[in-house]
Formats: sequence, structure tokens, C-alpha cells
Amino acid sequence: MVSDSATPAHGADVSSDRTTPSELKLKRAEQELRVTWRDGRESVFSAVRLRKNCPCATCRTERETQSTDLLPVLKQAPSEISLANARLVGSYAVQLVWSDGHDAGIYDYKYLRAMDEDS
Ligand SMILES: [Zn+2]
Repeated sequence: MVSDSATPAHGADVSSDRTTPSELKLKRAEQELRVTWRDGRESVFSAVRLRKNCPCATCRTERETQSTDLLPVLKQAPSEISLANARLVGSYAVQLVWSDGHDAGIYDYKYLRAMDEDS
């Protein structure tokens, strides 16, 4: 579980500094996840963006379906869903828990770093 500040445990298997956070902060008030990487870079991810890029199978399928669906079912807008919690998963990922109960998304650090460099 991540409170306002947590330092992920680093295993013996040291991966690249680029994809290893030195600090993770969940800012509930701002609805942001802030990651400081060991190479010094700081990334700020908005909750909306994280939710839109949720890597779980359900959301991936949903995104693929929506792009081809002519009459997409109106669902709760991502902006109405807030980021409730974040839990560290081993030393490679963070699991995000949303206000609608969705918690299947495991965001591995390589994925987050790629998402940040993509912007
Ligand atoms: Zn998902």
C-alpha cells in the first residue's frame, strides 16, 4: 500500500535506472501519480490519463471495441472516476485502485516510463 510517499523495495536484480522509481507519490487531492526515477527524471501522470491507459485485459478489450463500435455504450466518464489507492506490486509495478472499484490494472514501471516519454 502506498500512503503519500513510499519507496519501492529494490531486489537484487537491479534493472535500469530509467525504469526504476526512487519515489512514488499518490496525490489524491490533485489526482496525480508522481514518479521520480532513479535517473533523475520526474513524471506526473493524471488519474484520467492513467485510467485511459489501464493495462488490464478488460480495459484493453474495451478500448479496442470502442474504436470500432458505431454506437458505443455510454459509460461513466473517466473524469468522474477518481484514483483511490496505489499498491506496490513486487519491485516492478504499481497497482491502481479506482473509486469505482476497478483494481485490475497493474502498471509496470517500464509501461509508465514509456507512457511518460510518449507525451
Ligand atoms: Zn482496467
